[in-house]
Amino acid sequence: MTYDVTLIPGDGIGPEITEQTVRAVDATGVSISWDTQIAGMAAVTAHQDPLPEITLESIRTRRVALKGPLTTPVGDGYRSVNVALRQEFELYANVRPAATILPGRYNDVDIVLVRENVEGLYSGVEHFIKVGDDHRAVGVSQAIVTRLACERIVRYAFEYAIRYGRKKVAIVHKANILKMASGLFLEAGRAVAKEYEGRVASYDLIVDNCAMQLVLKPEQFDVIVTTNLFGDILSDEISGLVGGLGLTPGGNIGTGCAVFEAVHGSAPDIAGQGLANPSAQMLAAAMMLDHLGELDAAARLRRAIVMTIRDAGVRTRDLGGSASTREFGDAVAARVG
Ligand code: NAD
Repeated sequence: MTYDVTLIPGDGIGPEITEQTVRAVDATGVSISWDTQIAGMAAVTAHQDPLPEITLESIRTRRVALKGPLTTPVGDGYRSVNVALRQEFELYANVRPAATILPGRYNDVDIVLVRENVEGLYSGVEHFIKVGDDHRAVGVSQAIVTRLACERIVRYAFEYAIRYGRKKVAIVHKANILKMASGLFLEAGRAVAKEYEGRVASYDLIVDNCAMQLVLKPEQFDVIVTTNLFGDILSDEISGLVGGLGLTPGGNIGTGCAVFEAVHGSAPDIAGQGLANPSAQMLAAAMMLDHLGELDAAARLRRAIVMTIRDAGVRTRDLGGSASTREFGDAVAARVG
């Protein structure tokens, strides 16, 4: 069987890490017909549109995409294509697993963060208020949170825990201060948690405490479910616990489509130099293989990445090594089979 998958190489280091990732996936023997499309800065240059209709149509028909990082201008400029993709395909669950590959400061981290992906402060409901001559005197960004979406994401986290044999879910919030938006999330979360009593343990904690506990004792966490902004920040923190952004993948899951990507961005500071670590993008591809039902190939790909980094000591610069992106890709592809 051949799977049809949309491939978006992305901006900055995207094309370099995607090239090595495709080689590694192909080495698993799973047959994939990649439909390469562009988005982000590359698409602005080619079509004056960061998210061309042809790219959307490709994802719509294939329902699975592997995406490289996309550059988003800070402040002015076009809206984040990542956010637009999540909203267009209702990719409501952002799943970010992070596990220790190289023991270092922490030796036993194995956390899956499940982030609500379409609502909260990233709903895109924002405006400036003019005061006197200043058109931007006041900035307003609203957090929109619905009971339906809160229940859906918390249920996803519990179902994930059951499917992957996880023991406990932490519901992370800020309901003490944000009594409406975060209060509703906590209320809905506790109600859903009750349905799973006896099957998956759960508890809730305030986001600032969670951020500190993650640094103090990350081994205590298993699955974390939280809202959009908190999930965005905590998942980068969790990446730091396992060796940095170069090692953590993410899946954006909706009811009809799924888009897999590295957690990191386009890293313009090292783009085009062969220094980027393609592991996160490869691990995202392994999540994609799981999603396609190719569990054995996904496990082989993960094992090859771990063996390359930990046992063979082939590491890119961010992990203290000197391997280039391509040399790392060679080493993984050789071990996948
Ligand atoms: P970044 O993740 O691109 O880079 C942060 C730091 O981590 C940099 O020093 C970078 O060199 C390093 N880094 C990141 N990935 C690496 C890798 N694979 N190997 C080695 N080092 C790596 O974050 P940023 O600089 O804040 O953002 C740059 C651009 O990426 C921005 O336009 C931002 O909007 C975008 N971005 C996109 C996504 C996405 O497409 N999913 C996610 C985050 C940021």
